[in-house]
This record gives sequence, C-alpha cells and structure tokens, in this order.
Amino acid sequence: MTYAELHCHSAFSFLDGASLPDELVPAALELGYDALALTDHNSVSGSMEFAVSAGALGLRPIHGAEVDLDDGRHLTLLVKDSLGWSNLCRLLTHAHAHTREKPGPPSDPYVSLADVVEHAEGLVCLSGCALRGVHDEPTLKRLLEAFGRERLRVELQRPFLRDDRARNRRLSTLAGRLDLRCVASGNVHAHARSRAPLQDALVAVRIHSTLDASEPQRRGNFSHVLASPAAMAARFPEYPEAVSETARMADELSFDLRCDLGYRYPGAEDAESMRKLSELCDARMLDRYIDARAATREQAAARLSEELRIIEALVMEHQNGITIHARLDRHSAERYASDRGDPGADEIADR
Ligand SMILES: [Zn+2]
Ligand SMILES: [Zn+2]
Repeated sequence: MTYAELHCHSAFSFLDGASLPDELVPAALELGYDALALTDHNSVSGSMEFAVSAGALGLRPIHGAEVDLDDGRHLTLLVKDSLGWSNLCRLLTHAHAHTREKPGPPSDPYVSLADVVEHAEGLVCLSGCALRGVHDEPTLKRLLEAFGRERLRVELQRPFLRDDRARNRRLSTLAGRLDLRCVASGNVHAHARSRAPLQDALVAVRIHSTLDASEPQRRGNFSHVLASPAAMAARFPEYPEAVSETARMADELSFDLRCDLGYRYPGAEDAESMRKLSELCDARMLDRYIDARAATREQAAARLSEELRIIEALVMEHQNGITIHARLDRHSAERYASDRGDPGADEIADR
C-alpha cells in the first residue's frame, strides 16, 4: 500500500461529515485501502461503529480525533496505544467540560495547547488541516518537545485552494528546519461524490446560512471525497515521502479498540477472585440451608454452581471483549452484504 488516509471525518463530526463509518469502511476497501483513520471533530463517538465495521470487513481502523485549540486552530491526534486512547478521551472530556455552563445550546468545545502537551503520551500528532492547522514554528517546537520526533508530523493537504502550493512549500520548509517528517492527508468528509451536496447542505445548516450565502465556506470541489491511494499519491507529486509516510505511520498505529481497552470488573485483576467468591457463597449457603432437607440443599448447591459458572464465563468473555462485538460484527457483515445486494449475504453473515 502506498497511502493510508489519516484524516477523515464521518457524520459523527456533527454537521461536518456526510458519511457514516459504516459507509466509509466499504468505500475505502473498494478503493484499495488497507488502513483508514477516523478523526472526527472533538469526538470519538463514531469510533466503536468504525472499529466494528472495519473489523468485520477487513480494513485496519486507526482511531483519533481532530481537536480544536482555544485559539481556533486544529490538531489531528491519532491513537498509538491504550494509553493514547485514554489520553485522547481525557482531552475530549476537557474539551467539552465547559460547553454547557450556560443555558441554551452548548458552546464550542476546545482544549488548550498546554492540555494537549500534558496528554501527549500514546498519541501521534499531525499539525492539522490546511486552513486551521498549527503552522507556526514556536507552536510546532512546543509540540515537538511533547510528542518527540517520532510522534509529530507536519500535515500537508491540498483542498485545491489558490495558495495550496505555497502553503505546502512553506510547511515542508518548516518541517525540514525542525527535522520533522511530513504526511499527506485528504481531510475526507464524504465516502462518495454523491454525498458532496449533502455535505454542502450540512455546512449551510451549521453556519445558519443558505446554500448560496455559504458558498465561501463550502469546498466547491470534490477534494474532500475519499479518493483512491493512487489518486492521493498523484495529488502530491512534489512530496512522495509525505505520501509513503502515511502507510508507514498506519503500520505503527495498531491500537484495536475492540480488544486493547482491557475493561475489567472491579477486583477482576485479582486472579483469586473467583475462588474467593465461590468460598464465600459456599459458606453463606451452609448457613442459609442448615435446616433444609437434603433434596433442597442439593438443589441449591447445583443452582449455586451453575450461577458461578455463568459469572466466570461472563467475566472471561467481558475481558476478551467478545460478547457485544461478536454480535455487532455479524450485524455489520450482514448490512454490508445486503447493501451490495450480494447473493452470498447469508454466507458472510454465517461466518
Ligand atoms: Zn480542521
Ligand atoms: Zn478535518
């Protein structure tokens, strides 16, 4: 693979994304992607749907978010490991913490640069989108201190605006000066061209304007529609390393939301917990059934061991994260197959 898309919005970027994760995943596969990142604005609300859909269909999902800074600029954050996921979630919690202080609709979420710096561990930082990214040397230096050279990239985009070439030249010179690598990205907002009009309408709704009046804020081209890896490589002829760097990065971002979280029941870290529970229950049962008839005691003992067996199985399943996901995987596969009208829909679902 020559290119992985590391900057992509779904409809979970409320009013700034026209496709669901369930639609982005099959579209990416059909275009020839191995890996795709979901980076919704200040949110990971679509991440589980994305992980489940990607897992079911065989695309490697990368998780992240595009966060707003308090000065209005954007950073693209990608999750490297479970610590990164928890830092991203913490940052997003901070971003939204102040948004409902006053009555009325919530205000815009944002975090401070200091907050990002404090939660940098386990995350990869891309310098952000063409229009609102972090493009100045002092801020990039601060990010470099926090993320290190291995986890900070200068992001190059080509929204087909007048100053694209000049901006990318400036950014790549700045990257060279700081000894940082660049990555190309598409800032995707739709999985197919047919969704571009919907994206336009969403932008107009978001800024409380009409389609005509919102023209300057709209993209006016299809650069925000998911394009094939080859088309993306062709979009950056001057920066082949920035294109291949995306694939290299994607290989490093192996965090799997479906099994790397390690949710546990409180106390489940104690390997002896099942034995202790069963001893406790046995002792309480002796007390409780001390005067009961033998047949009743036998019945109760059988019931208790069945209950303990179920608890143990559930704890194990929960730790492996397979209970819900197995069902959702199946649902996703069914939907993909029926959307495509495959005659083999049942076959996929049965796998
Ligand atoms: Zn942005
Ligand atoms: Zn974006």
